[in-house]
Amino acid sequence: MKKLVKCRVCKKKISINADNCPSCGEPVDKEYYVAESKKGNNIIVAFGVIFGLYYFATMAIDRENRKIKNTPEYKLEEKNRKIKESEELYLKIKKIPASYIYLNMNGYNKLTKLNPENNVFQNKLKEYRNKVSNMEMEIGAPSKMVNMDGVPVEIAIYWNHHLKDPSSLDDEKCSNVGYSSKGWMYECTYRAKNSFGALVLGSNTYAIKKDVVTRTR
Ligand SMILES: [Zn+2]
Repeated sequence: MKKLVKCRVCKKKISINADNCPSCGEPVDKEYYVAESKKGNNIIVAFGVIFGLYYFATMAIDRENRKIKNTPEYKLEEKNRKIKESEELYLKIKKIPASYIYLNMNGYNKLTKLNPENNVFQNKLKEYRNKVSNMEMEIGAPSKMVNMDGVPVEIAIYWNHHLKDPSSLDDEKCSNVGYSSKGWMYECTYRAKNSFGALVLGSNTYAIKKDVVTRTR
């Protein structure tokens, strides 16, 4: 049983053996504090039991899993699964244009994790990591935020400043087409009103270099 308790009136710490709280003068009801302390203990015990059961259950499952994972059958299956997964992934990655350096980098990162000893994948990963860091130094990171239509926010802001009637903007779409020394390239189409108030289709290429947008076509 704790000797110090919180006064139930003023919440200051008091001795359970005192007759009155020295701060507010409330008489110290020893039975009340003993009962409160037991309530707290019961909750702690209940948590302990639940945690203990959970812990032992998890341990048992872990032990079973470890046993299964150590069997030669499991190891062979796992190896074959990784080989198959790698082959499928590699076929996909080979189809990605080299200019999509982030996709390539992430792909070879996955492949390297699946095949830590494969030099070809390691070298490709290194190559794309270098490309990414060189590009980011030269033209900045690609746009991180897109609006609901998948348009980089930088381009949406550009339209807002440059279109004759930005409120008429509709059907806007942009696709990332890689990079050049001008920046990250985006091909965009949209519909907006021109200076005569007629709804026309726009189709332009934009470059984003260090967050600055320029129209290249
Ligand atoms: Zn008090």
